[in-house]
Amino acid sequence: MITNMTHKDISIVIPVYNEQDNLKPLISELQEVLRDVGRPYEIVFVDDGSCDHSLKILKNAASYDPQIRVIRFKKNAGQTAAFDAGFRAARGEIIITMDADLQNDPHAIPRLLKKIGKYDVVCGWRHKRKDPWIKIISSKIANFVRNMLSQEEIVDTGCSLKAFRRECLQTVKLFNGMHRFLPTLVKMEGFTVTQVKVNHRPRRFGTTKYNIRNRMVRAFIDLLAVRWMKRRRLNYEIEEIIDEQSDD
Ligand code: UDP
Ligand code: MG
Repeated sequence: MITNMTHKDISIVIPVYNEQDNLKPLISELQEVLRDVGRPYEIVFVDDGSCDHSLKILKNAASYDPQIRVIRFKKNAGQTAAFDAGFRAARGEIIITMDADLQNDPHAIPRLLKKIGKYDVVCGWRHKRKDPWIKIISSKIANFVRNMLSQEEIVDTGCSLKAFRRECLQTVKLFNGMHRFLPTLVKMEGFTVTQVKVNHRPRRFGTTKYNIRNRMVRAFIDLLAVRWMKRRRLNYEIEEIIDEQSDD
């Protein structure tokens, strides 16, 4: 048998923007969990123009661990752009997304993997979210409005911890802010989505990159775009093709 050295079952894609103190513990935790999973994997970090020591730490980690790959943006381009670059670079059949700030618990990965055989996408749901109360409330409102206006039922679309079959991500075109709508966008392409409860942890190091204003206002505008796309989706079934020119 010829073994393909670049073959990976699983790609973990992680956007990083000024997360220097989170990276080492995140890498060790991921390595431990993925070693136990026992399938070929890679971790693709996308450094979204960090101006702290994140890049240095990632480069150093990659020099020791061939499973670690690093993509560096020229300047900060946003979390969706970082996901997009990671998806394009990923070689795995299954792509798992998560944050770099240790808030997503890598120990949930085996549970996501268990469901991915039955579903095309598995979304984490932070049922006991560990964030400041203002963020929890605003996110609850945002999810409610989002689900109502886009006729969706994703409880916690803002949770980055998700697993996708590779094909799902090849069909969607991403725009800035659209990472929050990935489950809806892939469902529109006919893929199946499920949700699992995942552990969430408080941010110990560094600061959040979002505030109520930049998240709520922009996400609402994005929601209207997604609602429009969903409503205007082409929806037809071909009953018959009559092609006189055909040879068969
Ligand atoms: N992030 C990024 N580019 C940005 C903003 C955020 O790559 O412009 C990354 C960030 O480093 C983290 C993830 O996206 O890994 C989620 O960001 P954050 O933790 O600030 O969001 P929150 O958990 O507060 O929703
Ligand atoms: Mg966070």
